[in-house]
Amino acid sequence: MTEGRTYLDYNASAPMHDAARDAVLCALALSGNPSSVHAEGRAARALVETARAQVGQLVGAAAEDVTFTSGATEANALAIHGAIAAGHAARVVVSATEHPSVLDAARQCGAACEVVPVDGEGIVDLGALARILDADPAPALVCVMHANNETGAIQPIDDVVRIVREHGSLVHVDAVQTAGKMPLSLDGQGIDSLSVSGHKIGGPKGAGALATRAGLALAPMLHGGGQERRRRSGTENVPGIAGLGAAAETVLSQSKDMMRLAALRDRLETEAVAAAPGLVVLSGGVARLSNTSCLALPGARAETLVIALDLAGIAVSSGAACSSGKVGESHVLAAMGVDRSVADGAIRVSLGWRTTQEDVDRFVVAWRELVARRRTGNEIAA
Ligand code: PMP
Repeated sequence: MTEGRTYLDYNASAPMHDAARDAVLCALALSGNPSSVHAEGRAARALVETARAQVGQLVGAAAEDVTFTSGATEANALAIHGAIAAGHAARVVVSATEHPSVLDAARQCGAACEVVPVDGEGIVDLGALARILDADPAPALVCVMHANNETGAIQPIDDVVRIVREHGSLVHVDAVQTAGKMPLSLDGQGIDSLSVSGHKIGGPKGAGALATRAGLALAPMLHGGGQERRRRSGTENVPGIAGLGAAAETVLSQSKDMMRLAALRDRLETEAVAAAPGLVVLSGGVARLSNTSCLALPGARAETLVIALDLAGIAVSSGAACSSGKVGESHVLAAMGVDRSVADGAIRVSLGWRTTQEDVDRFVVAWRELVARRRTGNEIAA
């Protein structure tokens, strides 16, 4: 991390755990292709299979049901395109606040796509889901994320699974933001497929995985060498996979850290609201990821707030800015019915394993100054 900076953008990308960095560096030193039978190949294969077991452990799936991908975007695409192409479902049903990698894959997979609305706190409307499934006997692939990346709102996945099962359909869960932060079990929760991303759990960028229910055969999107048990061709990204595995093991043993983060996050919110009484804590009325805070200052512009905080040495992001620097209307906040004048002033503050009390104090000081400057009409400090 850059000296003197306070990084509060873990939901965009988390700093690497030491064990993950070590695993990446170790793997970079290997020359073998994991598909080769010689000793060098077997050494690379061993790293991939160790990581597969580590990721399986994190998400409650058997190691052989874990497929490595280039990240969660690809894992989500494989879950959706793969299920439709394999004929497991004839249509896709997505919650309105899914990540674009789910929404766009669902819209472009060639099957009909229906959207389930969410309430004002961002929680999926279970009645509407049941009605959509009731209206058509054709099996659907239902995609509901475990927790939202912008607000941290946690979805009632067990209820979703029950409703989906009652209708003989399948459920895909984007668990990118919950892996390592909340208990998660593909097998235990009856989930058909589940995606995770390396860089959200302190592993490398460009590595992710899709875990699938035992026996669920998805049609591959990439063809060629037949790697990953024919589910995803292409020579494995051994350093990325090894780093993802090491990060998975690290976060599994550090899940208690979430209580510490919850206390820090709550303090940050209390102080932020005290400094700006009109501040809206989005999804503040429901169970949320304990590291995430989506704060909206009505009448403000999020990008101005982000720049002002950046100048003060603090990294946060504006509402939807999952993809670099993108500022636009957040489809998540729009789906929640948040007024545009409020949504436009929404920033996301997300804490993680390196966040300290001092980081929160620094945010609070910068926030107070920013709010005071807004009152005097001089938002960005020179
Ligand atoms: N789903 C969610 C909820 C995310 O937050 C992200 C990353 N912003 C993704 C999917 C995509 O993950 P990746 O960057 O690994 O492609």
